[in-house]
Amino acid sequence: MWQVFADYHTHTKYSHGTGTILDNAKEAKRQGLEILGIADHGPANWGHVGTADLKVFQRIMAETKRVEQEIDGLKILAGCEANIISYEGELDIPLALQRELDQVLAGFHTAVNPKNLRDGMKFVTEQVLGRFSLRYRQKARNNNTKAIMAAVYRNQIDIITHPGLHINIDTPELARACVKTGTALEINVRHGVKSIEFIKAAAREGAKFAIGSDAHRPDRVGKLASGVKAAITAGLKPDQLLNVREKT
Ligand SMILES: [Zn+2]
Ligand SMILES: [Zn+2]
Repeated sequence: MWQVFADYHTHTKYSHGTGTILDNAKEAKRQGLEILGIADHGPANWGHVGTADLKVFQRIMAETKRVEQEIDGLKILAGCEANIISYEGELDIPLALQRELDQVLAGFHTAVNPKNLRDGMKFVTEQVLGRFSLRYRQKARNNNTKAIMAAVYRNQIDIITHPGLHINIDTPELARACVKTGTALEINVRHGVKSIEFIKAAAREGAKFAIGSDAHRPDRVGKLASGVKAAITAGLKPDQLLNVREKT
C-alpha cells in the first residue's frame, strides 16, 4: 500500500485560487497529509491568474508560519509556481527570492508576459505554426526543450509542473537535466495524466516525480488518487516519488 504524505502544488487567493492558506491547510490535515505546499502563480501570468507582485510572497511566507502554528502536525511550505519567461530559461521570480522560499515549482504557461517581445513573438509563432508544419513543430520542440533545460540549470527549481502540457518538449533530455540538478517532474492531477509513456520515458533516465493536485479550490487539496494510479501503471516505486512512502 502507498501512503501519500504531501501535496506540494496548491493555490490560494494570493493568485487565482479560491481559498486561503488556512483553508488549504485544514483540508490537507483532513486528508491526512503531513506536508502542504503553497505554490501560487508568479507575477508574469496574465490578468488575475498571477500574484500581483513579488512582495506578495513575503506575505505568503509570514502567513504560512502563522497557519502552521494553528494546524497541529502539518508542515506548510511557502512557495510559488514560477513561469519561464525567456528562451534563456529565466523565471519571473528572481534567484534571491527563490532561495528565501521553501519550494519553487516552475513550468511553461502560455498566457504569460515574456521577458521581451522578441521571445514572446517567437514563442507564439512557433507554437501556432507547429500545429500545421512539421518543420515548425520540430523547431518549437527544440527551443522549448532548450528553454526548460536552461531554466532547470540556472534556477533553484524543485519540481517542474505539468511537463509536456501545452508545450511540446523532449522528455528524456529534460529528465536527464532534472536528474543532474535534483529536480522532480510532476504528475499533475488537475490537468490529467496525458501519457503513461511520458512517465516511463522520464523514469528510464532516473528522474524523480511528485504527484500534485494543482488544487485551485480547498476541497481539491490532497486528492491525488488519479496520479497515484498513473504512477503505479507506469511501474514507479514509492522511492521514485517525493511524496509517497510504503505504508508499514
Ligand atoms: Zn492557476
Ligand atoms: Zn498550478
